[in-house]
Amino acid sequence: IVTKDLTHKWFTLFAEKVIQEKEQLSEYDRIIGDGDHGMNMARGAQQLITLWQAVPPVHLSDVFKQAAMKWISGVGGASGPLYGTAFLEMAKAVGAKEELSNDELVTAVKAGFEGIKKRGKSDIGQKTMLDLWAPAVQDLEKDELTMATLQTALTKTNELKATKGRASFLGDRSINEVDPGAASSKLFFEALIEAGE
Ligand code: ADP
Ligand code: MG
Ligand code: MG
Repeated sequence: IVTKDLTHKWFTLFAEKVIQEKEQLSEYDRIIGDGDHGMNMARGAQQLITLWQAVPPVHLSDVFKQAAMKWISGVGGASGPLYGTAFLEMAKAVGAKEELSNDELVTAVKAGFEGIKKRGKSDIGQKTMLDLWAPAVQDLEKDELTMATLQTALTKTNELKATKGRASFLGDRSINEVDPGAASSKLFFEALIEAGE
């Protein structure tokens, strides 16, 4: 059963991980992008933590909605609106529910994934955050999401050639590099696993 408290913990852990990994995420982006992914993401993460220190979320959907607002207004770049849309679609999928079954959680995460696709006009195989989300959603559905499967998913993403976003300007030179958005998405799903432990 997924409660508001678990979801609050999930997003708090995600925000903390993003801040902790800020330099690493920007370093990945320095190689195949413009070097700001860690900075962008950490800005939204810090704003969310600050908000919740003052006023913790009350309802389950608040967690997703408030995270969406911080990412949309505070993060910028490509990742801000993409994560923001994902969180907003997750809030919509949750609606007024105060508890989710595992199936309902999968439905919400899928809605987030579809939101990224639509907003980004992108799909799997293009070496973006979607290549981390797709296997993560599948594993979550089978109740097989682990730190190890997330690492496997990231490793597979590394092998792809970027055809969306800034990294696509590099063509073949993007192969065997880490996509920063996939790396931050790995943190998102790691936080979900840890929140449930
Ligand atoms: P920017 O590229 O504007 O500097 P960021 O560095 O914050 O933005 O985020 C880059 C990440 O966003 C990429 O690593 C990739 O995972 C993701 N991304 C970029 N464009 C798209 C897209 N159209 N669809 C899905 N993900 C995308
Ligand atoms: Mg960037
Ligand atoms: Mg940028």
